[in-house]
Amino acid sequence: MTPPHADRSRIRDTLLDGHSFLLTSHARPDGDSLGSQLALAGALQQLGKQVRIINSDLAPAFFAFLPDVSTIEIAASVEDPFDAVVVLECSTLNRTGVAGLEGRLLINIDHHAGNAMYGTVNWHDVSACACAEMVFELIEALGARLTPAIATHLYVAILTGTGSFRHANITARTFEICRRVAETGVDAAGVAAQIYDNGSLGRVRMTGILLDQMTLEHDQRIAVLELSDAMLTDAGCDQDDLEGIVNLPLAARQVRAVIFLKKTDTCLRVSLRSKDPIDVRQVAVSFGGGGHPNAAGFTVENQTPETRDQVIARVAAMITDSGT
Ligand code: AMP
Ligand code: MN
Repeated sequence: MTPPHADRSRIRDTLLDGHSFLLTSHARPDGDSLGSQLALAGALQQLGKQVRIINSDLAPAFFAFLPDVSTIEIAASVEDPFDAVVVLECSTLNRTGVAGLEGRLLINIDHHAGNAMYGTVNWHDVSACACAEMVFELIEALGARLTPAIATHLYVAILTGTGSFRHANITARTFEICRRVAETGVDAAGVAAQIYDNGSLGRVRMTGILLDQMTLEHDQRIAVLELSDAMLTDAGCDQDDLEGIVNLPLAARQVRAVIFLKKTDTCLRVSLRSKDPIDVRQVAVSFGGGGHPNAAGFTVENQTPETRDQVIARVAAMITDSGT
């Protein structure tokens, strides 16, 4: 294993040598993927590089306040040439949902456990609380300046990527980066207000409905939330309005894990959350997904009437394994 800083140095050199770059991240982007991409794009542009960001899905509406978010292009495939493609926050290349990346010079930067190391250069650091922590280090290594816009991107990524500074992988380094971005002039209260206090009324109604219909399994240690497209339509909201609701049942002392089942006409999307040391990532992986030990997810294309019980059984097994 090469030390992480050697991988970072190779990436820095590749970026300094090249001229045109494509940045991408996972489908259905979140704050960490958006912030990491926009921060790195800003730093590279400062160094005179040509940068395009292409994602398979639009950013959720509540990230509209992010500087430069409108520069992100949406496409299902890429044909244009680039000196290198930087893939952020993706355990596998498939997670991008963007075709046409195979066979290019790929720079893989990720902090999720179980990265498939699909890049030409791979920098994989599971100790990073968010991908943005790695991007911050890369920006420093590149010799680019923190601007207010870049600082905002990094702060949003860390704030949302750590579940509002609550996840177990937060370290002194996390706060050191936040100190640096605060020094650059990030409006932390303003950012928090945009992200947490700027949702739709439908979101608030949906929260009530989902929690009201919550069921408890495995001796009240597993909370199950279930949603259908019809429920969304009735409440007048969309998928973006659901962000964060999955965490709410964890507020109850006895709840150790949450399973959020989102049914659409075509598939079942599942979000999993847990309290330490219960590892729900293993459950997600067993269904073909991924994520982090306390926040993971997967999609089932062919759900059967048994799927719900299978997910509950596997989460219950992880609770038993954890001895909590
Ligand atoms: P979510 O529940 O959608 O907020 O996702 C929680 C975590 O699991 C995030 O780190 C996601 O990147 C990851 N995740 C969600 N769905 C998948 C999937 N189908 N494959 C791999 N990772 C996923
Ligand atoms: Mn992400």
